[in-house]
Amino acid sequence: MARRTAESAAGEARRARLAAREALSREAGSTYLDSLILSTDSVVRRWPDRWGSPIRVAIMEGGAPTWSPRMAEYVRTSLDRWEGLAVGVQFTVVADTSRADILVRWIDHFEFDRAGQTDLTWDQSGRVRRALISLAIKTNTGLVLPDDALLAVAVHETGHAIGLPHSADSNDVMFPATRTGTLSDRDRRTAAVLYRLAPGPVRDVPDESR
Ligand SMILES: [Zn+2]
Repeated sequence: MARRTAESAAGEARRARLAAREALSREAGSTYLDSLILSTDSVVRRWPDRWGSPIRVAIMEGGAPTWSPRMAEYVRTSLDRWEGLAVGVQFTVVADTSRADILVRWIDHFEFDRAGQTDLTWDQSGRVRRALISLAIKTNTGLVLPDDALLAVAVHETGHAIGLPHSADSNDVMFPATRTGTLSDRDRRTAAVLYRLAPGPVRDVPDESR
């Protein structure tokens, strides 16, 4: 009895992974989630369904001498843009950093050619648990980033914080050297497909076929 249940659960999980692979192939042309099928670990990583409970975001103040409160507004705008897609991701900005799911901090500059970085923590089932977004105010060569670049990087890093990978198309916010803070149709569709898929592996793992 217990064995049958375990087998049917494994079968169900296999069918879910097949459905995910089919959805990813079907949407391959209009999204940039193909890396999920191609990469070695092939795991759908995203925030789990939170049943109306928003992701708590703490935006730290300061962190660099030239930090200004308007920079926090770029992060709020970024959150609004992704939340506005209504794919199931909602945010609330909190002051208490210890209770935040996503922590946003500012630094003066990175030591290498980069303006932002997002470190995600996820569990074995691909469910994102935490994110740390670091945003620079200057380039590594000491140039102050213009406001449109600060916004573009904030939107890009927030995209990573919800689980999005890079896009190879420079019109997309998720292009590595982000040029725009305006979500493209592909950005929108990619986020929508990501949040339609269940978190977890996309490929069958040998252990479960026993
Ligand atoms: Zn990136």
